[in-house]
Amino acid sequence: MNPWVAKALVLASTLIMIAIRAPHGGRSRRVKVAASHKTPLETGLLVLAWVGFFVPVIWVASPAFSFAEYPLRNGPLIGGVTCLVVGLWLFYRSHADLGTNWSVTLEVREQHRLITRGVYRYIRHPMYSALVLYAVGQALVIPNWVAGPANLIAFAILFALRVRAEERMMGEAFGDDYAVYSARTKRLVPGVW
Ligand code: SAH
Repeated sequence: MNPWVAKALVLASTLIMIAIRAPHGGRSRRVKVAASHKTPLETGLLVLAWVGFFVPVIWVASPAFSFAEYPLRNGPLIGGVTCLVVGLWLFYRSHADLGTNWSVTLEVREQHRLITRGVYRYIRHPMYSALVLYAVGQALVIPNWVAGPANLIAFAILFALRVRAEERMMGEAFGDDYAVYSARTKRLVPGVW
């Protein structure tokens, strides 16, 4: 299969991701932050996430990673496209459900509401599930040992080092409501974990 198919898919999904997030980025900057939990570790994780996000774009636009190329096959391509489509849909839905309560980092906003509906009904971190699906999709679609897994590795590190701090912050902000919500939901996969 022609690697340009993968390049077109990566470019399209990256642009869709940016288009989904852009209006929320603008909107959330207008809502005041009541409590910031942004540590130096958080700043480092955000930088890592940006690197992971842009390595596939560098792969599309330049021969920088050509030494790590391998042939693109139909099976991983179909699996990858499925993950990308479901991941982008879930990313769109989780942004829609969180609304102005979303932050790129660990923050509680003024008049922050705990969202437990929509895609937040069964899992506490649907946006992170979406980002995992998206990153797995890229790993399958990109026939390159460096650019393929870059986003997945970056996001796995971000998730592992952030999720407990985020849940602690939400527990401090919403007390029993968050405890009850946590008791009846899983983190990433409904009914499993
Ligand atoms: N972990 C969530 C949200 C990621 S965005 C997910 O994967 O879907 C991170 C910010 O969202 C956090 O700083 C917190 O302010 C906010 N947040 C996380 N869970 C929330 C919830 N259930 N309701 C409202 N805000 C939430």
